[in-house]
Amino acid sequence: QHLPVDEYNEPGGHAGSFGWFASGLVDVAALTGNPKYAAAVDRLWQNLVDTKMCITGGVGANGGIEGFGPPHYVHRGGYNETCAASGQVFYNYRLFLLTKDAKYFDVMEIVLLNGLLTGVGLEGNTFFYINPMEVNGEWGFNMQHQKGRFPWWKVVCCPGSISRTVPQVPGYMYAHEGDNLYVTLYAATETEATLTSGKVKVKQETKYPFEGKIALTIDPVKDGQQFALRLRIPTWAREKRFLPGKLYSFKEAPPPWSLQVNGKVVTPRMEKGFAVLDRTWKAGDKVQLDLPMPVQFSTAFNRVVAYNGRVAVTRGPLVFCAEEIDNGMQIQRLAAPQLPKPDQVKVTSIKEGLLKGMPLISFPGVERLEHEVLGNREFRVYLAQPLKPYEGKTRPATIRLVPYFSWNNRGEKSMTVWLPHKVEAGKKGVPLEWIAAKAEKAPISLVGNVTAIAIHNKSGQP
Ligand SMILES: [Zn+2]
Repeated sequence: QHLPVDEYNEPGGHAGSFGWFASGLVDVAALTGNPKYAAAVDRLWQNLVDTKMCITGGVGANGGIEGFGPPHYVHRGGYNETCAASGQVFYNYRLFLLTKDAKYFDVMEIVLLNGLLTGVGLEGNTFFYINPMEVNGEWGFNMQHQKGRFPWWKVVCCPGSISRTVPQVPGYMYAHEGDNLYVTLYAATETEATLTSGKVKVKQETKYPFEGKIALTIDPVKDGQQFALRLRIPTWAREKRFLPGKLYSFKEAPPPWSLQVNGKVVTPRMEKGFAVLDRTWKAGDKVQLDLPMPVQFSTAFNRVVAYNGRVAVTRGPLVFCAEEIDNGMQIQRLAAPQLPKPDQVKVTSIKEGLLKGMPLISFPGVERLEHEVLGNREFRVYLAQPLKPYEGKTRPATIRLVPYFSWNNRGEKSMTVWLPHKVEAGKKGVPLEWIAAKAEKAPISLVGNVTAIAIHNKSGQP
């Protein structure tokens, strides 16, 4: 936000401001049709997802400027201001409207359900300013050195960002243009859209994002109406990665998704990430989309030093995390030296308490018996360093994970998204072999960030 638009190549500076500013840039691109704006907003987006986005969709790892660090600096602790997540929602939504490409909604959905939603407590009246990937239960990472969400803070940008973003979600569910009806997000909803061919009602029945079956009922106002129903097939359901970009890759490719119309399997054409059903519709037509949700293990691009030798667990569009309350120990003691076989991974529905109805993932891991207990100061240093090899004894333990957005609602103890994995006693921590992105080149340039930091510092703030 500090250069002529032709020279924008990567996001820099304050991450919240960037998202809101970039949203405005997309609006200028749409309203003026000036191609240099459209090119700039896409260049910025590609750089962002290739080098600067947390797996939760959080952005802005550098707490000193509440902003972006150099490429591949996505921290083990992280800053990831709630405001920055809201900026990503607005930015990606506008990019979709400009291009009709599902990849922007794929990012936006991850931000909405993870990086943004974690910013508010389950009761809706407490907030995070900062959304870390790992805490030790002692670090007062939030404003006023709090370890939990706060109800109010003199800089109330983040509560405001939540309260102006979440109520917009119903308006993000569907989109239409001409005789195209887009289903952009999945949730139990219904709507009516006016297409060129006439009005049509759509109803979704689903337990998404906890389950991947989506049943749609299509009711055109008159039988024989012809239009294209476009269903977004998320990146995590059709590629070997959780979200667009080069940063994270799954160990296993996802199983195939499937689509049925009135009980018959169909093979639709794909267009910009949407499965397109272009046909003549009649009242009561049923469409069934099945997006399988296996538990997936991701590694980070090997230049992301903070996550070398670590894995993150996702299922569907949700990132999962290990919390102390479910695991009975400071979470830094846990490790998954071997990834579980598919039949060792269990997904159950939580039966009671605040997280009732949410999925809980469990699989075998180990507890490190000789792991040092880190105080606040040591922990901050620990987060800034690449993972060290650990030595000493371990014993079997069950690792239990809950959705990241739900963490810190049942106490303010330790948590991690990234679990130590390929780190063995007496050996150097090495990145996993199956990092698919290893051979790909990612852009590296510090120029934009250094300039941004210099400008920011003119205010005298650190
Ligand atoms: Zn904020």
